[in-house]
Amino acid sequence: MSVTIVNARIFTGGALREGAIVAEGGVITRMGRTPSPADEVIDAHGNMILPGLVDMHVHFREPGATQKEDFHTGSRAAVAGGVTTVLDEPNNTPVIDTPAALKQKLDTIRGKALVDYGVTVALNDHNLDALPEFERLGATAYAEFDELGDKPTGLTDAGMLLDAMKAVKDAGGLLLMNCREAEIVDHEVARLRRVSRNGLLDYNSSFPRVAESVAAAKRLLMAESVGVRAHLREVSTVETLRVLGALKGNVTAEARPDHLFLNEEDSAHLGPLAQQWTPIRGRGDVVELLKALSAGLVDTVASDHAPHTLEEKQPGYKNIWDSPPGIPAVETMLPLLLTEVSRGTLTLPRLVEATSTAPARILGVHPRKGTIAVGSDADLVVVNPNEEWTIAGEELHGKTRWTPYEGRRVKGRVLMTLVRGTLTYDRGDFRGEAGQGRFLKLETH
Ligand SMILES: [Zn+2]
Repeated sequence: MSVTIVNARIFTGGALREGAIVAEGGVITRMGRTPSPADEVIDAHGNMILPGLVDMHVHFREPGATQKEDFHTGSRAAVAGGVTTVLDEPNNTPVIDTPAALKQKLDTIRGKALVDYGVTVALNDHNLDALPEFERLGATAYAEFDELGDKPTGLTDAGMLLDAMKAVKDAGGLLLMNCREAEIVDHEVARLRRVSRNGLLDYNSSFPRVAESVAAAKRLLMAESVGVRAHLREVSTVETLRVLGALKGNVTAEARPDHLFLNEEDSAHLGPLAQQWTPIRGRGDVVELLKALSAGLVDTVASDHAPHTLEEKQPGYKNIWDSPPGIPAVETMLPLLLTEVSRGTLTLPRLVEATSTAPARILGVHPRKGTIAVGSDADLVVVNPNEEWTIAGEELHGKTRWTPYEGRRVKGRVLMTLVRGTLTYDRGDFRGEAGQGRFLKLETH
């Protein structure tokens, strides 16, 4: 099966070039001015083609919470947002912290994904010995994870965290680190709940800025001393950016769209719909985070797509501690970032680097993923950078049909998404087959 996309402006070699892309067997075999005949010809009508996004942080909720999302609906939202590869989080039921749970998860999701996927394993104080087995099964990354609800397996103990870093290094793995000093946050949550401070802003203040920057500094220093491959997530404050500037070393850093596109002042009325694990911060943080993304101090953007049903969020209007933090985000990430490009606050090369090339490198799948070049997978997103539209939860394609960006005007629209040469999303229609998405292990091992 071959496919040719003609009349395109292709982002390749760091710039847009006019021409055609030919893919055979899912791989780009030719690029140039003159298209060659193919089984399927797609006319891009002069629109832009970017490499498909590699989203290193999604919660597709399977197994265990498929009322919120599952691997099929999550990957529908992904391709509608131009995302062609995802890394899925381990806070499932059961938690993915044993080889048996990992095997079961891979069996459960097989045959459902439209996008290629990797899976993250949760590290805790009793599974470091299993790292070689996780590697053998194809674990893509390891997260120190303290958002596991009734099974708190977070690495609050610094000695334990150091052990975990050494174990991940020895296994040749990638460590995903969170900027959250749990002892501070737990203390603040208990204090606020005791005095019945139950609103969104109370929730936000339970995760003080210093709980983020202290955790980031500690982890950057420890990761450097161990020499583990590590990635710092959910960077959101000016103070953490200062820490990164001083201590980043070889660690890569990630920001979330809601920290770039929502601020506490504008979002207070959203209540639980703007309730996030690392809370929404202030206007000044948003401005500085976007600058840091532009400058490359923040390497990547990942959605942290973490949907909950409206029914689950509802109690949070009365008492924020009764609703779960997290928002759906995988489908809106690219249009929001393209809007910044149209405003001139972010360049297109930085957008592509941060959402596709850098994540592919970090995951060890570049240049197969994350770039448009001969020999790379034909993971492609056709974008109209000039189309203005309004985000509406009802029109999104995941299982939950709400968004904190309801009513927001954006400029830049995903028209089509191809996953390894298969046209999978086409202006609101889904093609491709459930199960076409491959486990990344096949790409790397
Ligand atoms: Zn998350």
